[in-house]
Amino acid sequence: MLDADFFRRWMTATAASVDREAERLTALDSAIGDADHGSNLQRGFTAVAAALDKEAPQTPGAVLILAGRQLISTVGGASGPLYGTLLRRTGKALGDATEVGAAQLAEALRAGVDGVMALGGAAPGDKTMIDALVPAVDALGTGFTAARTAAEEGAQATTPLQARKGRASYLGERSIGHQDPGATSSALLIAALADTAEA
Ligand code: ADP
Ligand code: MG
Ligand code: MG
Repeated sequence: MLDADFFRRWMTATAASVDREAERLTALDSAIGDADHGSNLQRGFTAVAAALDKEAPQTPGAVLILAGRQLISTVGGASGPLYGTLLRRTGKALGDATEVGAAQLAEALRAGVDGVMALGGAAPGDKTMIDALVPAVDALGTGFTAARTAAEEGAQATTPLQARKGRASYLGERSIGHQDPGATSSALLIAALADTAEA
């Protein structure tokens, strides 16, 4: 069973991974966006880690709701409200249980990803974070390692796509040939989940 501490460690591992990969995320965003995705998420997840330290929420749902709220309030770019919605919706779906199982987490993440699609209007294939998140949630029933692989493959599969949502869509066909920054950071989020589960 996964408790509040597991979810706190997942968020902390994501913050560390975003720190390590910030330059790469920003480089991807400089090709098809405005070169701020790494710094946006660094600012956001630094705030998440600080808030979790300070407030020590006691349930998995409360950890994700607090994390989502921090992302929404500290990240100015499109990714802040989108990741914030992902984590808040997932947290809400977990309710006030003190421990949750992997199947419950998979179901809750599905609700979170649905929330992102409702907010941003993106579908799979639009070259966004959705292209990593949907395959990850689909694979999560099989296990955390399968979800990590699916997210990474989903992120890589955005390269040949033309962006239909977000800033990259303004480039039209010129968005083809570059991996989507948000799909790349979503793969980091899922990899951090798998790392936390395997630790
Ligand atoms: P901004 O584009 O405002 O500078 P970021 O650079 O932080 O924000 O995030 C860009 C990423 O956000 C994109 O690579 C894409 O994955 C994701 N994104 C943008 N718009 C949408 C949307 N409508 N739905 C889902 N994801 C989106
Ligand atoms: Mg950007
Ligand atoms: Mg921006």
